Amino acid sequence: MDIIRQRIQDFFSTPPEGQKVEVLGWVRSVRESKQVAFLHLSDGSTTAPLQVVVDKTREELASCLETLRTGASVRVVGTLRPSPGTKQPVEIHAEALTVLGPAPEDYPLQKKRHSFEFLREIAHLRPRTNTIGAVMRVRNTLAWEIHRFFQERGFLYVHTPIITTGDAEGAGALFRVTTLPPDAPYDPTEDFFGAPAFLTVSGQLEAEAYALAFVNVYTFGPTFRAENSHTPRHLAEFWMVEPEMAFCDLEGDMHLAEEFITHLLEAVLERHPEEMAFFEQWIAPGLTDQLEAVVNTPFTHMTYTEVIEHLKKAPASFTFPPEWGMDLQTEHERYLTEELVKGPVIVTDYPKEIKAFYMKQNPDGRTVRAMDVLVPRLGEIIGGSQREDDYERLLARMQELGMRIEAYQWYLDLRRYGGAPHAGFGLGFDRLVQYVTGMQNIRDVIPFPRTPGNAAF
Ligand code: ATP
Ligand code: MN
Repeated sequence: MDIIRQRIQDFFSTPPEGQKVEVLGWVRSVRESKQVAFLHLSDGSTTAPLQVVVDKTREELASCLETLRTGASVRVVGTLRPSPGTKQPVEIHAEALTVLGPAPEDYPLQKKRHSFEFLREIAHLRPRTNTIGAVMRVRNTLAWEIHRFFQERGFLYVHTPIITTGDAEGAGALFRVTTLPPDAPYDPTEDFFGAPAFLTVSGQLEAEAYALAFVNVYTFGPTFRAENSHTPRHLAEFWMVEPEMAFCDLEGDMHLAEEFITHLLEAVLERHPEEMAFFEQWIAPGLTDQLEAVVNTPFTHMTYTEVIEHLKKAPASFTFPPEWGMDLQTEHERYLTEELVKGPVIVTDYPKEIKAFYMKQNPDGRTVRAMDVLVPRLGEIIGGSQREDDYERLLARMQELGMRIEAYQWYLDLRRYGGAPHAGFGLGFDRLVQYVTGMQNIRDVIPFPRTPGNAAF
């Protein structure tokens, strides 16, 4: 009879009962009585561990147990039987047991609840925990579904550069890339690229060039911001998804953003009932209902000006009193999404002073065709806009802001050579994972978080 080797999740979902099976995984816990030992194994495929029953009266099995501790990796061959316990449908009765990689008694991940702060200090081992396991499976599905969403709609996946020269978009929060020795005075002409170079903060400008050739494109890659923000929703290195569409205006952009979020939430709710139940129980009670409500309710739209009026009338008292022209603070976004609307809100037509230079100006001369998607708990998850496609107006705005025009001539040229109305947005991928899983800190939804003072792992 052949030995069936499969992942633990498959043993639960399609159990080859009564058959000889092999399982490879890591020991979560060992519980021993006189006659038998119970091992709980995991292999990252599911939250529930697989129980292995070991008959200690069998010499070769008992001797193996001596070196077998929590954390060890093992190979088990045995028979799959219905489990008399109610937690799992099946268990394995071991016939052969091999410790492939032992673990010492002071293995850091013992069977108890560890704080997320502690787990960040052992970022190389935390993927073996239930929470990080569930988060990473959902993260994986989201990444896959992002590609599927765009590919099914004919979008071209573009790889925009990671290293860019010239002063990028918002400036300020940039990581410099250099090969010059740190103690020499900085002379860009001596540097590798012959100009100051930085890690990208966004692939948008380059994506625009591709949208003006392929119509619909998207990027999905790492971005870097050296902002010194110690918040639960900022990373120094994070992943961004940026669709860009030619022959598209702000309405089309918002429509796509809503369809996109809805698709992703639906996919996770459908494919990860087990993970969602886990988050519901341990991380964020009410999460599933919340996400289902988002899927089933059209997003609320409001202009920035309307938002300010609502905030001024709000019964809540804010640390930053709402005033037209100010950037919306976290407290404002939370009031809006959690109390006033109780769901996602798309805010449009922001004052041009608080938005980027490339956004299309409205005829009023004060606001731009920008849109942010705000969600409960997190605030901004998407930032987008229709882009300024008028050469003269874009140039004037850049001059007004004192930007170095030479560095952006190629970008301006896109408006001279077959320009077209176009629009796009940026979704913070890690924030999306945080939103869907209910995790409080963005550092716990990315494998190895980079934040001020920390890139140790
Ligand atoms: P915020 O005001 O929250 O800092 P932002 O206005 O700087 O966001 P954009 O420049 O519009 O954000 O970037 C697009 C998206 O990228 C944001 O909507 C957010 O989801 C995500 N994002 C921005 N900065 C970070 C960061 N430091 N870490 C993780 N995600 C981020
Ligand atoms: Mn920011």
